[in-house]
Amino acid sequence: MTPLCQAAFRGNVEMARVCLKFGAEVNTKRHEQGYTPLMFAALSGKPDLCRLLMDYGAESSYTNNIGKTACELAAFVGQHECVSIINNHISLEQINKLLNPKDSEEKFPEELSKFIHKTVSAHVVHPIAIIFTLLDYEDALKYRKKILYVVDRIFESQLRCKESNEVLSLKGLFGQRLHAVSHFCFTCGSFSAKKRCGGCKVPYCSEKCQKFDWPIHKRCCQAISDWNKKDEEEEIDLDQIKASIEEVDEIKASIEEVDEIKASVEEVDEDGETKNE
Ligand SMILES: [Zn+2]
Ligand SMILES: [Zn+2]
Repeated sequence: MTPLCQAAFRGNVEMARVCLKFGAEVNTKRHEQGYTPLMFAALSGKPDLCRLLMDYGAESSYTNNIGKTACELAAFVGQHECVSIINNHISLEQINKLLNPKDSEEKFPEELSKFIHKTVSAHVVHPIAIIFTLLDYEDALKYRKKILYVVDRIFESQLRCKESNEVLSLKGLFGQRLHAVSHFCFTCGSFSAKKRCGGCKVPYCSEKCQKFDWPIHKRCCQAISDWNKKDEEEEIDLDQIKASIEEVDEIKASIEEVDEIKASVEEVDEDGETKNE
């Protein structure tokens, strides 16, 4: 295992960053089972690490010795934030190309590309989360038309070129259900919110989000607390969801089998006769 693989395996973002800065090969396949750093990052469930590797040009279509991509591995172990980051990654270069095309004389600042990159890379599309991002960049209003233009182009190209992978989207759907048992920030919808309201225990990702929500939340904190107590017994069964995911895999396998049979039938049709001699 290379040091970068080690860092990814352990989910150590800072170590991975150092390795990459010193020129570590991001798509190394030197691991004997064919695992790339991105696959390790996906398995370790570190979204920031996945994003870092993708930013450094990690190839998401590579498969390991059992034919699984990083995305499929992440989905398999229930790391849906990683799935989302790998699937929807957009590079800074793509943004730069749209923002500063070769034939245009108008040049836009580096900060603007970085800001747009951050905005479109965010997989949390909660309106409050978007407003928070906009508030962080003071020239957002000044460049609003350009921002809209670039975001629009990006979505268009994503819609057009994205391979439709029904199995993965189905897994994504189950992933959403898995999320029902993980913790969303009550304000901005971001995953893995670690702070809690002292009264009703709803999750928040930060103090900023909790303060933002408080004027409204204080009116319903007690009601939520009561409702949660009543609802506690009706938790979603994780095993049941995993079984459904396995079912999807089986369906996929049988579809592939049918495809193979179809292909062989077509071969016979072309020849006009069977190949038996
Ligand atoms: Zn939040
Ligand atoms: Zn509360």
